[in-house]
Amino acid sequence: MPPARAVLSLRNVYKRFGHDDILKDFNLEVFDGEFFTLLGPSGCGKTTVLRLVAGFEQADGGTISLDGQPLGGLPAEKRPVNTVFQSYALFPHMTVAKNVAFGLRMSGLRKAEVAERVEEALKLVRLEGYDERRPSQLSGGQRQRVAIARALVMQPKLLLLDESLSALDYKLRRQMRIELKRIQRECGITFVYVTHDQEEALTMSDRLLVMHHGKALQIGTPREIYEQPENLAVAKFIGEINVFDSRLTGQVGDRRYSIEIEGQEKLVHSHLRLDAGEEVHLLLRPEDLRIEYIGDQPEGDSGFFGRVVERSYTGKTLDTLIELDRGAQIRTSEFFNGDDPGFAKRIGRRVRTDWLEGRGHVIRKDKA
Ligand code: ATP
Repeated sequence: MPPARAVLSLRNVYKRFGHDDILKDFNLEVFDGEFFTLLGPSGCGKTTVLRLVAGFEQADGGTISLDGQPLGGLPAEKRPVNTVFQSYALFPHMTVAKNVAFGLRMSGLRKAEVAERVEEALKLVRLEGYDERRPSQLSGGQRQRVAIARALVMQPKLLLLDESLSALDYKLRRQMRIELKRIQRECGITFVYVTHDQEEALTMSDRLLVMHHGKALQIGTPREIYEQPENLAVAKFIGEINVFDSRLTGQVGDRRYSIEIEGQEKLVHSHLRLDAGEEVHLLLRPEDLRIEYIGDQPEGDSGFFGRVVERSYTGKTLDTLIELDRGAQIRTSEFFNGDDPGFAKRIGRRVRTDWLEGRGHVIRKDKA
């Protein structure tokens, strides 16, 4: 594969509103042709990044470049960037075709070429035959497609999408995730998507950036972010996670270490260079843990013992909250199997929980 080329780069960007530093020394590179997502809790500065790139706001420091050219001073309408807003902002009195054609007509393109490009864009978003409808005659999902077609028809270098699926109901949002990904793949334009929905970010993105309080916490592929969070903030923001405070007791092989956790020795794998005695966190996803109903059977000495505090059936999985004998609470998640005799594990029942060597992810304690 050829090396990835940065189409958008932000270097040491600062943005203040009044006395508040919204973005501090913010750095980002988005590669040509990728689906990139900015993910973070409400108010962390995601939309501010988009608005700076689009030219609706000016940075107080740093540089933003597109294809190597600094954008500073270039007004929004001159930037080869289009934005799809959460509200879609369609013109209600215009037909679908006229909405999509609007930008092209303003740029003075010949009528025949406008018609051809509008047709192509509507085909890309699967809205052929809807040209003469007005936005009020469309469903939420269809309106969103019109907004995407209207932006893509301008053939921007970047398409910015701000929480574009949040106005849709859950089912439609799931369908539109697949649609958006398909549209992006087919048109090959770089998408920068903003959301606080981790599931959306993990399913659609080639890479994503997790943000918190105006800072970039980690950038990586969905798998890297989910399986190898670099710090506790990322680990806790993405999905459920169990955090064990542990101490490294020694190295037992290449990238294999022994750790002491809840008074027991366990083997873990890590690409970090760790020293004996170091304080670490072992992070385990609920699906990494296995639980065993132990009833009156004698308890062996391996594994972690506790009691079921809560159980919830999600349709696909059975999620259990367990209080360990030493007081820590952990969450497990298992695929639901109605034939499993252990299914009836009840609140208050005693369980043993454990995980396979190699499961879990180790981070240094000072990285919290
Ligand atoms: P959300 O997911 O809720 O949209 P966000 O991560 O996109 O949040 P931003 O909209 O970038 O967050 O806002 C970041 C911070 O900047 C917030 O505290 C917000 O109140 C503040 N802010 C944004 N725009 C302005 C403005 N024009 N004037 C003053 N403060 C602003």
